Amino acid sequence: MTAAADLAKCKTCGSYALAGTVCPRSLACPHCKAEPGSPCKRPSGHRAATIHAGRYHAAETIDRAAGITYPEQVVITEALP
Ligand SMILES: [Zn+2]
Ligand SMILES: [Zn+2]
Repeated sequence: MTAAADLAKCKTCGSYALAGTVCPRSLACPHCKAEPGSPCKRPSGHRAATIHAGRYHAAETIDRAAGITYPEQVVITEALP
């Protein structure tokens, strides 16, 4: 039960993430300019299956600035829409 307690539902996209961390989807993507809460886009305009690495890094940078340390091996899972 402790593992579930460490997860919090994202208000922006509804997926679960570690409590206290910034959800990448709650940020605009610096790569494809997707709006906060929107999936990343391919150059063609189709929705991308994954989130661009730059978006993850943007969230991670905010988390680190807030004093959150990431484990060496972190697996980020996002709920599929
Ligand atoms: Zn989210
Ligand atoms: Zn993107």
